[in-house]
Amino acid sequence: MQEFDTVIGLEVHVQLNTESKIFCSCSTRFDNPANSNICPVCCGYPGVLPVFNKKALELAIRVALALGCKINKQIYFERKNYFYPDLPKNYQISQYKMPLGEKGSLKLPSGETIGITRVHLEEDAGKLIHKENYSLVDLNRTGTPLLEIVSEPDMVSPEEAFDYLTYLKLTLQYINASECNMERGSLRCDANISLKEKGAAKLGTKVELKNMNTFRGVRDALSHEEKRQAKVLVSGEKIFQETRLWDAKHQITEVMRTKEEAHDYRYFPEPDLLDFVVTDSAVNNEKKYIGELPLDKRERFLKEYKLPVTETDVIISERFLSSFFEEACKEFNEPKKICNLLLGPFLEQVNTFEEKFKAVKISAVNFAKIARYFSEGKINNLGVKKVLSLCIVTNSNVDEIIAKEGLLQVSGKEELDKFAKEAIAENPKVVKEYLGGKVQAIMFLVGTVMKKTKGKANPRVVKELLEKALKK
Ligand SMILES: [Zn+2]
Repeated sequence: MQEFDTVIGLEVHVQLNTESKIFCSCSTRFDNPANSNICPVCCGYPGVLPVFNKKALELAIRVALALGCKINKQIYFERKNYFYPDLPKNYQISQYKMPLGEKGSLKLPSGETIGITRVHLEEDAGKLIHKENYSLVDLNRTGTPLLEIVSEPDMVSPEEAFDYLTYLKLTLQYINASECNMERGSLRCDANISLKEKGAAKLGTKVELKNMNTFRGVRDALSHEEKRQAKVLVSGEKIFQETRLWDAKHQITEVMRTKEEAHDYRYFPEPDLLDFVVTDSAVNNEKKYIGELPLDKRERFLKEYKLPVTETDVIISERFLSSFFEEACKEFNEPKKICNLLLGPFLEQVNTFEEKFKAVKISAVNFAKIARYFSEGKINNLGVKKVLSLCIVTNSNVDEIIAKEGLLQVSGKEELDKFAKEAIAENPKVVKEYLGGKVQAIMFLVGTVMKKTKGKANPRVVKELLEKALKK
């Protein structure tokens, strides 16, 4: 990409964390049977009237604030007119001329800042499920509150777009405004990309990319499109302003529609909803829920806990992990040891839970106790895994479990020496291999002692004892 500069802007739709839809009281639950969360309002029956969900406005204000947007005090909705089988009213209630927030920004770990053009509220459409010879319409999603977040064309590479998405998602998750789950469709992203001559002020013709289902998909689609456009330009041909679909299977973009087919949505103010005034007290109230944002937390963690960047990034990547880690460190001030237990055995178990972190009940105090006992040699690796598996969804008393399950590690040399001698006597072949120079063979003997002690021996002490016994 040497002779060109890449220019990328992203348009992200996120579903706001409300119990009910934006203009009616139907549930926003994701997993209910098709067409079970619908009513005359979200189905667009004649004569019905929308009622604006206060919670949706509150969450939208919170996001706008977290992204440093200027909040417009008087807002109104407009109708975006188009026909599609998943849109029963034939128009979508959205914001056009007067978005809720404007002129914000999002800072990235690289130090770059990406401008946010606008954030506005709108309702979602339903879902079409395409079968072989027919299509089904599920209107459960119709009327779900969405926030559209439009960035400035400030990103210069697919990697930067990936970072922007990562930190946008984290920001929204930290302030509890959206789940941002791409698989469930609660975060969707379209991208604009164009190339221009290196250093030139004039922008090139942009292409819109759709149909990316993961952050990686967004990055791959942009990367493919960057190469495709460069090739076209180098060959002296023109880029057409068009919408292209990402084909993840074949890793290519294909034309969906050209500009000539673009819609005219004939926006006009929604006559069934009054203008809304966003009061200062509503804005101040949302400030309370913002707290420390993920990038600030990342910088502070790097400074305070001095863990490697990779580990810090994993901890920051989940709000739960970051606060749990910090609480545990307050109990046992050994960040590295807390981190090892957290990102090792703890995450391993959490990843097997369907509900992930929501299933976790163990307190940070109890967790820190396990880390301390491990560091003091009271319990070994196997003991840690066992006690954690028994406490993680119950928060049972760690000391009681260790006593009940007999998990206290045996480190007494006298006691272990007996088992070490037995292991040596029972395995002459392995001993011969070890003495013949195959150093790794000792691990078999360590394993034998571990078995004899039902996993309770301190493997480090056992290894030392075996080495000493075999030296003679
Ligand atoms: Zn409804």
